[in-house]
Amino acid sequence: MPRMRYLITGGAGFLGSHVADALVAGDHEVTILDDFSTGKHDNVEHLIASGAVDLVEGSVTDATLVDDLMADCDCCLHLASAVGVKLVVARPLETLRRIVQGTDVVISAASRNDKRVVFASTSEVYGKSSSEEALHEDSDRVLGSAFKSRWSYAIAKSYGEAIAHGYHREHGADTRVVRLFNTIGPRQRDTYGMVVPRFVRRAIVGDDLSVYGDGSQSRCFLHVRDAVAAILAVSTHEGATGRAFNVGNPQPITILGLAERVIERVGSSSGITFVPYEEAYEDGFEELGKRRPDTTALHSLVGWRPMCTLDDALDDVIDFQRAELAMEAGQLESRDPSSSWPTPILVQPAAPARAA
Ligand code: UDP
Repeated sequence: MPRMRYLITGGAGFLGSHVADALVAGDHEVTILDDFSTGKHDNVEHLIASGAVDLVEGSVTDATLVDDLMADCDCCLHLASAVGVKLVVARPLETLRRIVQGTDVVISAASRNDKRVVFASTSEVYGKSSSEEALHEDSDRVLGSAFKSRWSYAIAKSYGEAIAHGYHREHGADTRVVRLFNTIGPRQRDTYGMVVPRFVRRAIVGDDLSVYGDGSQSRCFLHVRDAVAAILAVSTHEGATGRAFNVGNPQPITILGLAERVIERVGSSSGITFVPYEEAYEDGFEELGKRRPDTTALHSLVGWRPMCTLDDALDDVIDFQRAELAMEAGQLESRDPSSSWPTPILVQPAAPARAA
């Protein structure tokens, strides 16, 4: 792949910082745009210190700034977003605004500057579709009540997809969409309610793990390393333009099963407490029974499939959270960035484009 300059919005976040690591390892040039609302300097300071990455502290809603940065890059990965159902439910208006305005600015700037853009959407766009079938990119979407703020996030991301699609159809822009299902790994914090970092931290310190509801709801968890490989494959393959792709692990696990697995992998003596949803979340929350991706489209185009198991991902999260806890307790001064990125990322070579 020729050397390219990437603009990563949200590049100091959990996902964005791993994408930046992979691009730098592939000898690409990277500019990160982040407002540090949920991103962290810790995630990228090793990249900034090495001079491999330019960091711009600013907002994706700043049209002049985004236009300037877009003019300087070859490809934009638009990953900036509000993260976590807890944050979305707690601050729905801010979430909506940031996603809608930011996506408008970024995708219109990409189109104007004739640059490729990959928009990070989410499995939330499928809503609470409870079918037994894995979700396909063309599956119907079933949103709950308009008064439940969880769904405003789905609406904001669906709007982003529609904008991406519209610019492609009407202006010939090179837009691509990835729909990320639950993604886990080092650098994901427990602050925004995500289940895996919460469970792992509690298991390490010996507190009970709080399983919401009866724990029979299920999810599919993908190692962030596999998510990065998928995003980069979508960003490089010519056949991905104008399309949307599910990115997720097709293998489901119940949340109770996940709690038991975390306790086992940590070797913890923690117990499990069941917490009713009304206590766990504010008004505006609605639980999903299950959500499983069909990733055939991405596999057929680029040969992508997850390379890491759930246990691989949990073990990396456990290592990361152990180091975090040691740093918080003052037992560790700084973390070797490679300790949160233990092995090189596996980016599969893109398969040649197929005839339709
Ligand atoms: N969950 C839980 N305990 C927690 C945090 C989350 O049981 O401490 C459950 C939550 O109700 C949901 C699942 O774990 O069923 C995944 O939650 P998360 O917010 O990580 O992802 P999402 O609901 O967006 O898929």
